[in-house]
Amino acid sequence: MEAVLKNAVRLYALEGYDINEVLGHEGGRNRIYVCSLNGVKDRILRISCLPDRSYEDYLAETEFVHYLAHNAAPAADVLPSVNGKLVERIELDNETVTISLFEYAKGILLCDNGYRYREGAPLDEYFYNVGKTLGRIHELSKRYKPQHKRPSYFEKYNKDYIGSLIPDEYAELKAAIFDRLERFRMLPTDESVFGLVHFDYSDGNYHIDMETGDITVFDFDNCMYCWYMFDLDNLWTHLEGWGRGIKDPTERNLYLEKCFEMILSGYRSETTVPDLMLDLRPLFVDMVLIENIVDEFECCAREEEELDYEDIEAAAEALIESANDPEVKLKEGNLIYCVSEKQQGDVSNALRMKAANEGQHPYAVIITCSDSRVIPESIFSAGIGELFVIRTAGSLIDLPQLGSIEYALDHLGTKLVVLMGHTRCGAIGAAMEGHAEGFAGSIIHGIREAIGDERDEYAACVKNVRYGVKRIFEKLITEKREDVKVRGAVYHIDSGIVEFL
Ligand SMILES: [Zn+2]
Repeated sequence: MEAVLKNAVRLYALEGYDINEVLGHEGGRNRIYVCSLNGVKDRILRISCLPDRSYEDYLAETEFVHYLAHNAAPAADVLPSVNGKLVERIELDNETVTISLFEYAKGILLCDNGYRYREGAPLDEYFYNVGKTLGRIHELSKRYKPQHKRPSYFEKYNKDYIGSLIPDEYAELKAAIFDRLERFRMLPTDESVFGLVHFDYSDGNYHIDMETGDITVFDFDNCMYCWYMFDLDNLWTHLEGWGRGIKDPTERNLYLEKCFEMILSGYRSETTVPDLMLDLRPLFVDMVLIENIVDEFECCAREEEELDYEDIEAAAEALIESANDPEVKLKEGNLIYCVSEKQQGDVSNALRMKAANEGQHPYAVIITCSDSRVIPESIFSAGIGELFVIRTAGSLIDLPQLGSIEYALDHLGTKLVVLMGHTRCGAIGAAMEGHAEGFAGSIIHGIREAIGDERDEYAACVKNVRYGVKRIFEKLITEKREDVKVRGAVYHIDSGIVEFL
């Protein structure tokens, strides 16, 4: 290391600086040195020899940092070497060592201030500034035209890599991660929601100026193309510590949501984020959890140590739960449908063959109207073998419908039944007006039983759904099926949103 340091001093004209290594740089894989001049911290020298990073990766990172700093983003700038390079490379004992120099970010780490914010200022200011700083970086990222390119999310987080990294004894966890990855692939990747993100934006990677409250970000070592929501949800998961003093879980969550609202208002003062993407927050929390878990396995592989399951237990259980919760799947499937404007379900030949040979295990029964504007598989981003769908005009519940539900519950193992009405329903309209001719008469009678003389179309729709849900409960949810959930919902045919009642 001595020889490398000597080279670095020459390459970056650091003669006269006091150079001290930052020890216990938790989880960091680079060697970091603080360079001080006359006792004032002034520069950060980073020396890396990471086998999984290429010279191009470093170039792409430093170019981005340089771009941010030059566009007034609060990021600690990278400083060129005497050769005018942002990244220097030297060969030493058959190893390539990469060196970069950064400005020292003004201020200190929150942990070095005992996790106390600056004297006399409200904590709201801190959260607002954290959001504003991130918003500024994202806004600039949306306009960034890179020279060298950082990797994209799926280049790292894919079945092949994770499949080989995580041992087979964690089969359930692996399956849950694969399920989540399939979900992420359905997300839109247009420039307004997907771009170069920090990927590790938290209080360990920015300094706070305790005089002014200004935040300066550093360590873009992990930056990659990903959804902007990742950085926001990463902040959300890091908020946890602020709620530790509040015992009541509901109150604690309310408080943390309030902190997050503050972060969001700062964020929105610099850039935009679509409401639907915010509604998908639970899915992006899963993305953060996967990053944490993969990181743990990578650390163990590097150190040749066994993983302590306790370190990932909470994250793993949360992932397994969301991958296997039919209600979560429907809700996120619906949001993905709205945000992606596409039919996202898997209708591939491979899945068709698999389902044909292995049988069906749909995770939900959907009872809905025959209206051609209501397409259950699209609405829930579902493919072959996922939904057991029953349709009649007005989504009536009568004997054949009850028999169909019964079959799914008892023979296919489905545990969730959703009765979904919809807005602007012709059958409900006809029932409200009292039309009852021909065979349709039986449907109109059925709906009138449910809605009485209700005059408001939406209220009538809700009444019709609740009536049907009650009927399913009474007829089918006996003791032997008490683990089955029955939910009512209304599909809004204008927005595509499914409102669960
Ligand atoms: Zn209808």
